[in-house]
Amino acid sequence: MSHTAIFPSCPRCDGDTGDGRFCASCDVLNRYPDAGAYKASRWRRLGGALLDGLIITFTLGIGWLIWLAFTAPDGQTPAKKLLDMYILKETGEPVTASQVWIRDVLVEIILLNLIGIFIFWIASLVDAIWIFIDQNHQTVHDKMVKTIVVHAPRQRVPGDNPYQSGFTTSTGPTRPRRTTTSAGPGTPPAAMPDRSPESREDRLRELQGLADQGFITADEHAERRRRILDDI
Ligand SMILES: [Zn+2]
Repeated sequence: MSHTAIFPSCPRCDGDTGDGRFCASCDVLNRYPDAGAYKASRWRRLGGALLDGLIITFTLGIGWLIWLAFTAPDGQTPAKKLLDMYILKETGEPVTASQVWIRDVLVEIILLNLIGIFIFWIASLVDAIWIFIDQNHQTVHDKMVKTIVVHAPRQRVPGDNPYQSGFTTSTGPTRPRRTTTSAGPGTPPAAMPDRSPESREDRLRELQGLADQGFITADEHAERRRRILDDI
């Protein structure tokens, strides 16, 4: 499937974006460079597959399924949650919880294992090995349900998932960045905080998360909360 990059040069690294889903130079997700999401490395993906397998084994499947009910709405499996990875559609848009259940339970576990019974588990092996063959590090089950996996370490914010909220606050792709000349070439544009009312809730939630985790004091929390509410 051909995929045209929206940006002539990468807003993150200023390099050649190439014509793939990820920047040819820095691996950032081409379509939404603002999201801070990069192509998940092959070893991270393999580690995720093994980790999910371990969790499934040690919780007899049940614990993993219950955990999946909590991680699926964010486009994650339990292992992907632990390794900061998100499942996206091949277009770069977020997946729904039901798409995660279809991808990971129906296709990856049930379907591939059913095929595996007849061909000595080769299907699951090929599924994992595909990570090392595919230029977008996709597995076979990714190909089947048209998903990619990104690594978004910046998104490790307690109590919030800005990666998802970034999409819920805007309907289309991010606006082109190259229209202004204020920032010189080579200067990565600073991520502008979204001041729209829709994002206020997200910011408050994020702030609450920081307070809950003890990253900021109660006074700081009150002050920053007041500033968010005064804003706009
Ligand atoms: Zn780049």
